[in-house]
Amino acid sequence: MGYDPFSLYVCPRCRGSLVLEGDRRLVCGPCRLAYPILGGIPDFILDDLTLSSHPVLKRVKVFDWLARIYDWKPAYPLAVRIYAGWRVSHARVLRLLAEMVAGVSGTLLDVACGPGTLGRRLAHEQREIYGIDMSWGMLRQGAALASREGLNALHFARALAEALPFPDGCFDAALCGAALHLLADPLQGLAEMSRTLKAGAPLAATTIMAGKTGLFKYGAFREHLRTTHGLRTFSLPELAQLTARAGFEDFQSQVFGSLVAFRVRKPAKGLK
Ligand SMILES: [Zn+2]
Repeated sequence: MGYDPFSLYVCPRCRGSLVLEGDRRLVCGPCRLAYPILGGIPDFILDDLTLSSHPVLKRVKVFDWLARIYDWKPAYPLAVRIYAGWRVSHARVLRLLAEMVAGVSGTLLDVACGPGTLGRRLAHEQREIYGIDMSWGMLRQGAALASREGLNALHFARALAEALPFPDGCFDAALCGAALHLLADPLQGLAEMSRTLKAGAPLAATTIMAGKTGLFKYGAFREHLRTTHGLRTFSLPELAQLTARAGFEDFQSQVFGSLVAFRVRKPAKGLK
């Protein structure tokens, strides 16, 4: 009997258990909400995001379009360099995130997974990886690439970071690559990651800060991104405080120009 990836999902609204109805939808027992499954990918976002007031959510179709080039080899390293400064390498940032969860096996969460950029690199025999993203384009691309690469342990769902369709304490690690600054509510997103992690489990993430190199060193540019595009930039103390408020501890960071990689941990049991 194979692993049933759908068995882990719960209703993001009430966290009730879901019943699979004919491979077409997952129905919540307690609240009766039905989540459709399209091309093997469950959709936990029932609202039309294009009607959202948040600039990032409203432009979900831009991410659908970006999916086509996002994982194209020259494009992603270029984006890392624009964000972080010309001396920062894409490979180095990915390697660092991989190192932060090295030795972790079991079930991993990849928040705002895109086309599985991280997940496809981190998948191995001892890991089931659950990727969530708001963009159908990204998810479809990820599923197609994972299937082409023969990765059976990578599972995609459409969901918002602020309302994860997973039960409490089910993940051995969480990843959030270059996405925290895009969330409508980063604190709620982090709180959801903390809720769904096991006690003592790590979160490894990269995000954007007002660094000394790259475009993000310019205050006017950061302000433009925030007001027009809903894209935040954090400071290190802000990130330390935000993760602590979300229930994490042990904030450790490494700065690459305007990109920061950080690792936090959900407190181990009994040490609260
Ligand atoms: Zn429900």
